[in-house]
Amino acid sequence: MPLQSSPKILSNWWAQAWAPPSELNPWQWAEQELEFSARSTPFPGLFRSALTPYIRSPLEAFQDPAVRRVTLCWSAQSSKTTALLVALAYCIAQDPGPALVVQSSESAARSFSKNRLQPLIQDCEALARHMTAKKHDFSALEMLLDRMTVYLQGAQSPAQLASRPIKFLFADEVDKWEDQSAKEADALSLALERTKSYRNHKQVLASTPTLEAGPIWQSFLAGSQEQFHLPCPSCGALFVLEWGQLQWPETADKDRIKYESFVECPSCTARIEEKDKPGMLAQGQWIAANPSAQESHRSFSLSELYSPLTRWGDLALKFLQAQAEAKTGNLGPLHNFINSSLAEPWQEDEHQERRKPDTILNLVDGRQPGEVPASGVLALTAGIDTQDHGFWFVVRAWGENLTSWLVREGFAPDLETVAAILWGSSYRDEKGQEYIVGSALVDAMGHRTEEVYNFCRSNPKATPVKGEQRLHGQPWKVSVLDKIPRRDGKQYPIPGGLKLFRVDTNHYKDLLAGKLQVSAQEPGAFHVHQDVSGDYLSHLTAEFRDEKGIWRQPKHKRCDLWDCEVYALAAADIMGVRFLRPSGGASSRSGSGQNGKKGPDGGNSGLRKKPSWFNNR
Ligand SMILES: [Zn+2]
Repeated sequence: MPLQSSPKILSNWWAQAWAPPSELNPWQWAEQELEFSARSTPFPGLFRSALTPYIRSPLEAFQDPAVRRVTLCWSAQSSKTTALLVALAYCIAQDPGPALVVQSSESAARSFSKNRLQPLIQDCEALARHMTAKKHDFSALEMLLDRMTVYLQGAQSPAQLASRPIKFLFADEVDKWEDQSAKEADALSLALERTKSYRNHKQVLASTPTLEAGPIWQSFLAGSQEQFHLPCPSCGALFVLEWGQLQWPETADKDRIKYESFVECPSCTARIEEKDKPGMLAQGQWIAANPSAQESHRSFSLSELYSPLTRWGDLALKFLQAQAEAKTGNLGPLHNFINSSLAEPWQEDEHQERRKPDTILNLVDGRQPGEVPASGVLALTAGIDTQDHGFWFVVRAWGENLTSWLVREGFAPDLETVAAILWGSSYRDEKGQEYIVGSALVDAMGHRTEEVYNFCRSNPKATPVKGEQRLHGQPWKVSVLDKIPRRDGKQYPIPGGLKLFRVDTNHYKDLLAGKLQVSAQEPGAFHVHQDVSGDYLSHLTAEFRDEKGIWRQPKHKRCDLWDCEVYALAAADIMGVRFLRPSGGASSRSGSGQNGKKGPDGGNSGLRKKPSWFNNR
């Protein structure tokens, strides 16, 4: 029988004729087929890997049959998301199978879908041809295509994460997923578990790092630990771009720093200019540093120093700004710089972490309790911690750079006494000048909520506060309450409403711990009066950060005055003290903060340690 007349052989021939060109790896395929439209990227057009050649190896690893997991511990501006989109597009066009994209929250998943993934699929012919005719098959969180389904989820829905087997997992910004320590199984484990029924599954984990114990850094360490090596244009030696190699002119001229920063070759000390970067990137190569890693796990780290979108000089300026903030005790911007730009985890420092009573005693000055310092005071705030049997309080004075002075601390049996302490008489400096407490935050949680709300309604400078462990990027938020819950469970309306501040206690505890490290002579110091109580010393040194960066209270230890300081600091921040300036001569009864514009702190929550290179700059 002639071959051509066999239907089976004929169908095989057709299948082969229509089979995808299997020789192309994902980035080669993308360079021929993957077109980004202006809706999904500021750089529309056919995908090109030449600008970011470091994207090639991870994409080849994604296709490699021996590889199950690809970890990208990459900085901001490094094309991390593009790598993820190219891999997913390759699945849709060339290697279909159920895929799941997990983002930190459902709203982040929706935003990623609507702004990046859906436009990519709809506008690129090679992907759009796999859409079905039914419009409802293509929703933000579930896209039924002709040969596979793409699911998108937020990491906070563990029940959803445990359902449906998937072949491809794309876990994006895994270090920004909720703290899972209190839950039975964390979101990442649940998501990884879902790929188990596919022997040839692929897991892509991508994120900027946070702490050493965070998931992306741990995954990077477990894998091949590859770093991108560049050849020096002068001597040809291969080296990893590192922060310590960056040099900038000693000047306050920002333009000079921006345009004259350069990298010094670690081998021949040649000056390497920004304009050399593209040529070096083109000849770069990934080199693994972990010989004991399994072949199935390739991990890659990349800092913003490699980004073609960021000048070295811009990074120098960002660092100098972060360093200036760090000197006043606000480590947030430096922490952010190390995580987001250098793609390095923040290292906890045991020495700084363990605050001791001596740390506080070093901050004692010559003032009596209740006495305001003689100069530099812009405002007074108070923080009140609510207990079943009474109220702890601190009163604190604030100056420029959030330099501050403990004026008074203690315990009061009831809120009338608190009101008398805060506003019954004014506070004075040694020259007799008067100051009043401009803002007091009163803890509204626990069993005395109704009482606290009523107190705040009759004292306009007092505001109820609710401490929360994470507010996701914002140090504080305002809610307006329209009802007061009563102890009998009923609620009654509040005419005109009542403001409630919600504050990210982790953020302010980081900031407070940072301020306690500033020495008494430096701007930003956290001064304490000379009769500071033993309670104060022990409360301020009790709490510690766990390995996930969350503040914990040891059992059987009190930290009420520490909580008061957190609220007093939040009050100063919310009041905008950092934007206040001394108004020429002495300002009597200053401290209301009414002229200060409210400026939310833009920095991320800061952590501890200055890295080893920090002090050398
Ligand atoms: Zn060299």
